[in-house]
Amino acid sequence: MSRKKTSPAKILSNCGKCGLCLSVCPVYQTLKEEQASPRARLQLIKAFENNTLEASPLLKDIISKCLMCGSCAVACPSGINHYERFMEMRQKMVEDLGESPAIKGLIYLLSKEFRLRAGTRMAALGQRITPEFIAGKYKLGNIPVNRFPTLNSLPVRKRIHSRVPPAPGSPPGKGSLVYFTGCATNYMFEDTGKAVIGILTSLGYEVIVPEAQTCCAVPLLFHGAAGRAADNIRTNIRAISRSPFDRVIVDCTTCGAALKDEYPGFIARAMANDHRTKSGWEELAEAANVISEKTTDILSFLGEHDLVFNTSPNRGPRHLGRAVYHAPCHSRNSFGTHAGVQDLLRRLPNLEYIPTAGEADCCGGGGTFFYEHPGTAGKMMDKKQAGIRAAKPDVWLTDCPVCRINLAGSLDEKDRIKVSHPVVPVYEALNREAGGIKS
Ligand code: SF4
Ligand code: SF4
Repeated sequence: MSRKKTSPAKILSNCGKCGLCLSVCPVYQTLKEEQASPRARLQLIKAFENNTLEASPLLKDIISKCLMCGSCAVACPSGINHYERFMEMRQKMVEDLGESPAIKGLIYLLSKEFRLRAGTRMAALGQRITPEFIAGKYKLGNIPVNRFPTLNSLPVRKRIHSRVPPAPGSPPGKGSLVYFTGCATNYMFEDTGKAVIGILTSLGYEVIVPEAQTCCAVPLLFHGAAGRAADNIRTNIRAISRSPFDRVIVDCTTCGAALKDEYPGFIARAMANDHRTKSGWEELAEAANVISEKTTDILSFLGEHDLVFNTSPNRGPRHLGRAVYHAPCHSRNSFGTHAGVQDLLRRLPNLEYIPTAGEADCCGGGGTFFYEHPGTAGKMMDKKQAGIRAAKPDVWLTDCPVCRINLAGSLDEKDRIKVSHPVVPVYEALNREAGGIKS
């Protein structure tokens, strides 16, 4: 489900204050304060634009206390695109008050691939040499440092060839897919990267993994750093378009939302009115539209295939036990994946999928929300945890890397719950001898 497109003027005048967005907003539902609601944020933006309200740390805090989950835009009967409006307002807050010190370093790293590579290398070294009892004393948000995932010893994109051929014996003539790995898979979750490439090649696709790709730019856009985001967007459009492809596959729906919705919107805004990012977009606008049309998340893509799983009693995949699922906000709101993922999990022979009542409730991760607003994020996670612990799972699956970090960080050793991406058990369960697909 793509986000609605509405003109900025319409956005502010259209709010009928009906309150439907309040019922779906995880921040409002947690805090129960009007100023934490999508409706109130729109009114504050309106007052700011009418010059009756000045930029201030309090205003910036209220605008930033939003997960950018998009649930309000989906629920709004007036067709308001809150998402785009909040992003523009965050940019104005940065212009007037500067970047928030808490996330300045992250933005600096994410805006250049070589910095991110160097930063993750240093962090990996830090993880190796820091004793567990020291790392456990410090927290990022609510997450103890020793509960962060172990960084990949080598980035996924360095481990594999930039063109991976279809697996031997797989169905012929399936075409070429670009795999946009995102930063998290590249530097943190190599199990996801291996599974995505393994699944796609066993289905018969050639997988192109552009070496020059970089951060999708969503973290930069969400923090109002549009000028820095422009470079990342240009780099990715060029990297993806370098050779012909049939589809672009993402394993993170936030990256997917960037390629699908943010890039064309950003380019249109830059060409129309942003003097700092205006030049050079004409040649990329068409390529951005092609990428937007062809971008699909891996789980929706698998839903287009008739997968064959290995159900052999003797040589079947290892059973993973009871599994619960956390449906990330962007997967639900930008790609509408929830029901499809549930169907896929029910069909897997190597786990017992247990649906839980709060499965689609936000976990409070929200990019850097868990770090910037730990009090609110902690309340969301407590609610989430109550439903999960009752199900007594062995595995907690989710298809968003930030949610994965947040969920894993909320658990401890004695919980004995492994957190993973759904593609991992799917890859383990595929009958690779049959090419994983009915011919
Ligand atoms: S749902 Fe839309 S129209 Fe209703 S209060 Fe929220 S923003 Fe306004
Ligand atoms: S994007 Fe999500 S968290 Fe932000 S106001 Fe809308 S519903 Fe609330």
